[in-house]
Amino acid sequence: KAAAAEKTRRLLEMVGLRASWSDAYPHQLSGGMRQKALVAMALSCDPEVLLVDEPTMALDAVSKREIVELLLRLRAERGFAMLVISHELPVVSAMTSRVMVMYSGSVLEEGPTEALLKDPLHPYTRGLISSSPSVNPYRDMWGIPGEVVVAGEKQCPFFNRCTQRVDGCAGELPALKTVRDGRRVACIRDGIVTLLGGSGIDKTYGAGERSVAACVDCSLEVRAGEVCALIGESGSGKTTLAEILSGIARPDSGEVLFEGRPVRGNSETSKTGGIQIVFQDPLSATNEHLTIEETVREPLDILREGTKTERLRVAREALKNVQLPSDEDFLKRRCFMLSGGQRQRVAVARALVMRPKLLIADEISAMLDPSTAANMLRLLKGLQNSQGFAMLFVTHDLALAQKIADRVYVMRSGRIVEHGPTEDVLGSPTVEYTKLLMSAPGAVRSA
Ligand code: ADP
Ligand code: MG
Repeated sequence: KAAAAEKTRRLLEMVGLRASWSDAYPHQLSGGMRQKALVAMALSCDPEVLLVDEPTMALDAVSKREIVELLLRLRAERGFAMLVISHELPVVSAMTSRVMVMYSGSVLEEGPTEALLKDPLHPYTRGLISSSPSVNPYRDMWGIPGEVVVAGEKQCPFFNRCTQRVDGCAGELPALKTVRDGRRVACIRDGIVTLLGGSGIDKTYGAGERSVAACVDCSLEVRAGEVCALIGESGSGKTTLAEILSGIARPDSGEVLFEGRPVRGNSETSKTGGIQIVFQDPLSATNEHLTIEETVREPLDILREGTKTERLRVAREALKNVQLPSDEDFLKRRCFMLSGGQRQRVAVARALVMRPKLLIADEISAMLDPSTAANMLRLLKGLQNSQGFAMLFVTHDLALAQKIADRVYVMRSGRIVEHGPTEDVLGSPTVEYTKLLMSAPGAVRSA
């Protein structure tokens, strides 16, 4: 008994509690102290594996840090392995070298912690990261839409909330498989897919002395369900590249693939489930003389999608989604009667009736006042999140890119000079030009 008491005192001291606490009752301790006492108990038999289940849940930030540091120190000193169960990404990031992401009873992704948090492969992992303000301090939080459902034995459990589901996802339970070095994912599509890929794109306007190289060997990819920002100062070639990626303009050389198919002319813009593009200037984005209803319904009319009544219903729904009225009186107004912000929303509604998998938004808020722009962007990001389409967000505004983009491409004088996860590129730019952009007035400085 005496030896056990002595060991207890040693264990308490080891976890940073004074030995005199050994005869205190649990209710006399704070939450953090109780957690330490539990760690001491767990270590009393010298385990080779320590399993910690939500070790820091319900602790304040300071106690949380103490527990994390304590566990890491003990692990280093005593050499046990540790399995940390947590829903807190900062804890996972601080304590672990490898993660398994679990959802509704299945492991959906596994890999080295740093790589997994920086470049998630499963749409669920990406959704978790986007929901965690601590991982991306400058970004807004956007939870994963929908609810967990108990999936059948023969379907992907994340199927109902996935931004890139295909018919096959409901027909089989995907197994965890290696898709690249040390990275495993359970997804019949091998994780987040590349929706749009442009490679080696060149475009020169004019000839001779006055020629302008608007795009030089540009390569860029947009993945399903993500927001990708294309940033650069005015004249850097962003619009030209966006037009080439959508098929509106032809490159001099290079290739653009959408879902693996070459993009040519209106091959992807003139159908549902393809690419839509919304331009900078709300006044030229919509036809003056059409009514609002005609403007939003027109793409569906051209495609003869469903009956006229159905098309009208879809148009009204789209107007509601962009928070515009959809009553008769409003529908019959002509576009020139609207404000810039309203016209821009009409243009977005018109794009969204086509249920695009990719929306290209070219400086859509540049001509709006700050409040209208903020509303517009929250609306758009909200729709992107709930409907799950991918977005290529073209802007010269870095602060905006930092708020909404998962990944960024930085363009200068026709070239892509830097790209990667937003926090990496804008948080610690490696290219002089990006540094310059980041130091301009209005750019958000990073920690
Ligand atoms: P950004 O959208 O980044 O401002 P743009 O793609 O509009 O850049 O323009 C890139 C360069 O190409 C600019 O120097 C611009 O003057 C030139 N450019 C764009 N469109 C045309 C055109 N239709 N004819 C000639 N030059 C053009
Ligand atoms: Mg432009």
